[in-house]
Amino acid sequence: VNPVFADLPTTVFETMSALARAHGAINLGQGFPDDPGPDDIRAVAARALVEGYNQYPPMMGLPALREAVAAHYARHQGLELDPVSEVMVTSGATEALAGALLALVQPGDEVVLFAPMYDAYLPLVRRAGGVPRIVNLQPPDFRLAEDALDAVFSERTRVVILNNPLNPSATLFGRDDLERLAGFCRRYDVTAICDEVWEHVVFDGAAHVPLMGLPGMRARTVKIGSAGKIFSLTGWKVGFVMADAALMRVLAKAHQFLTFTTPPNLQEAVAHGLAKEDGYFRTMRAGYARSRDRLAAGLAALGYPVLPAGATWFLNVDIGALGHTNDVAFCEDLVRRHGVAAIPVSAFYPDGSVRSLVRLCFAKSDATLDAALERMAGAL
Ligand code: PMP
Ligand code: GLN
Repeated sequence: VNPVFADLPTTVFETMSALARAHGAINLGQGFPDDPGPDDIRAVAARALVEGYNQYPPMMGLPALREAVAAHYARHQGLELDPVSEVMVTSGATEALAGALLALVQPGDEVVLFAPMYDAYLPLVRRAGGVPRIVNLQPPDFRLAEDALDAVFSERTRVVILNNPLNPSATLFGRDDLERLAGFCRRYDVTAICDEVWEHVVFDGAAHVPLMGLPGMRARTVKIGSAGKIFSLTGWKVGFVMADAALMRVLAKAHQFLTFTTPPNLQEAVAHGLAKEDGYFRTMRAGYARSRDRLAAGLAALGYPVLPAGATWFLNVDIGALGHTNDVAFCEDLVRRHGVAAIPVSAFYPDGSVRSLVRLCFAKSDATLDAALERMAGAL
């Protein structure tokens, strides 16, 4: 067996959801909404399943979905993408990430990563033979500082992975941070894998800026999106990859032997969803912002210090400020004794150096959030 995987623990999301089930806890750990997702999109998927064609769709994705992806990003982010040569459908962002790393990293290549990082990244980099160069971003602002970038980028850097907005810190990187990173990509001729699954879940009037749109980045960025986050349908695992045609030819070779295709009925439904009017996206954001504010206000009233959350479905509580030094122990106690599951943020720092934060998912009904708050009152 390969030691990269043999030595891995089970992902924290699965572990915490299993603990939540075992203890009958309210699950604010793994990120998934308790909203069922848009009725019309689910209806298209159901109809396509019953009445539609259920055999292998084209390897690159249904033409209707690839066209919808290109039109969607032109409308929302000003990107011009050729649906035939620059858009590919994958089985979730997870497949897109794995495929991109398999296709772009050669043994010995240095790969720059930022912690806190989504837990899939590092094992995939290692399995591809990449040498990780990790920048630990620091709470509460998690910015990409020039000197930190300077310390990890070099002639040996081949790939950088950026997650924007950033899960778990809920940071939306703006133009300043992105320009700084783009400067290093241009200087060292680096390809950026930009995991933008949270691009639509941004709050307070802020707009997501795609790294791909910055000067000199168009041909060196692999942009990844996910219908799971755009439409609150996390179980669907419909992702999309956007890249310059030359890069895409290589990404497609990885995709053809990972999953080859994604269920056609879900692709058809996502194509329908991407064409939704701006009002859908505004309402979705406003709904999550309300939930964020409700949980943040409730936590603050109980005396939990809460970090700002500009994007995603997550709020971070600074348990360090309450004198706690072990986020894992805090979360185990919270789920076992108080019946609320959360995610210890040290799981996103490979060196485990930040142990002062606990992530809570607020993509839940008011009743669920209020019940969780009631239970958390006893945990202080
Ligand atoms: N990247 C990040 C940052 C995520 O938060 C998630 C999932 N929640 C994914 C990738 C995986 O997305 P998908 O479910 O589309 O595979
Ligand atoms: N992205 C989700 C989260 O951050 C979890 C995805 C998963 O369970 N692998 O909670």
